[in-house]
Amino acid sequence: MRDYFKQQPDTKGFFGSYGGSFIPEALQKEMDKITDAYYSISKSHHFISELRSIRKHFQGRPTPVYYARTLSDELGGRIYLKREDLNHTGAHKLNHCMGEALLAKYMGKKKLIAETGAGQHGVALATAAAYFGLECEIHMGEVDIRKEHPNVIRMKLLGANVVPVTSGLKTLKEAVDSAFSAYLEDPVNSIYCIGSVVGPHPFPMMVRDFQRVVGIEAKEQFFEMTGEMPDNVVACVGGGSNSMGIFTAFLDEEDTTLYGVEPSGRSLQKGEHAATMCYGKPGLIHGFKCYLLQNDKGEPDPVYSIASGLDYPGVGPEHSALKDAGKVVYETASDKEALTAFYTLSRKEGIIPALESAHAVAFAMKLAKQEPRKSILVNLSGRGDKDIDFIVENYGTGPEVKA
Ligand SMILES: *Cc1c(COP(=O)(O)O)cnc(C)c1O
Repeated sequence: MRDYFKQQPDTKGFFGSYGGSFIPEALQKEMDKITDAYYSISKSHHFISELRSIRKHFQGRPTPVYYARTLSDELGGRIYLKREDLNHTGAHKLNHCMGEALLAKYMGKKKLIAETGAGQHGVALATAAAYFGLECEIHMGEVDIRKEHPNVIRMKLLGANVVPVTSGLKTLKEAVDSAFSAYLEDPVNSIYCIGSVVGPHPFPMMVRDFQRVVGIEAKEQFFEMTGEMPDNVVACVGGGSNSMGIFTAFLDEEDTTLYGVEPSGRSLQKGEHAATMCYGKPGLIHGFKCYLLQNDKGEPDPVYSIASGLDYPGVGPEHSALKDAGKVVYETASDKEALTAFYTLSRKEGIIPALESAHAVAFAMKLAKQEPRKSILVNLSGRGDKDIDFIVENYGTGPEVKA
């Protein structure tokens, strides 16, 4: 296993034929500097002990593994939840944002730059910036700014500068372009922080490494609770960071099946889902190679999911390689199934999950019925507070409670 992390990715950032770095030369130079810094700094005793201390005292780690007894008794299987919803700020994203910001500090950077779509990455990064006393600049499409008002307010409260992007469709894609060009204006003092295991090398590797804590903790906790390894591990896949975080700990467990769950949205028609691994083909997006939902010209297809954190037409390169190697099985859950899981977990266990995480729960509920004696470890990537207004407005508070 040690060898796996040394060899994946290779020195050019490739996981098999996926990943790499396909970007303009000016940006490549900066990525090379980040790569070199990461390789040396992240191995240092100071860096490791500071990150450990942050995880424990600021983030509240380790997050627990919880046996969902009511749900399990009802469905048949044994469902365990890795509670990333209890990580500070309510999701796993802070794990890599704290790592990226710590690296920035050691590199002597003064400003963190990123784009955000729904605002989750922006909030996590603004939190990390506040912790380290770094400046933070979050680029966000004007359309998204209007849609995601509470997260915009959070970022501002945390001291971030939210830059509205007014070009094109005024959403995520334009925000990426805007953030990249702001970064290139001052690469000496600033660093670009990517929000998942995507983008050019070294980000898919770096973000994976920072998320590995989830799997390392969960494996130990699950063993302590049950005396065995889980039969199944389930996580939702958007860009793929929370799933890589938990999967990496189980890659060498022959008897554990790993399931990545993608959103099949409203239907499997183009533009109505974002099930990249299940229905995409290898292609190029944002400077790296991966499975991609694309048209005949190789341009990304429009995508959709009820969970805004899952609607990306690409996916992490390491997932792409793991799929080809048959190490991870990719499945889907629809909007409807995710909603049912959202209501069910809230009512039966007292845990309101993020809509993204509800996709993993939905698939786990299906699996529990099919394999009644087996255990399932689900990565509950985040809490649902951010989704409740949207859900209640559109779907209500769930089925009537009977007297
Ligand atoms: C952003 C987000 C995801 C999707 O991102 P990954 O990189 O695939 O993990 C999943 N769950 C939550 C709660 C998120 O905020």
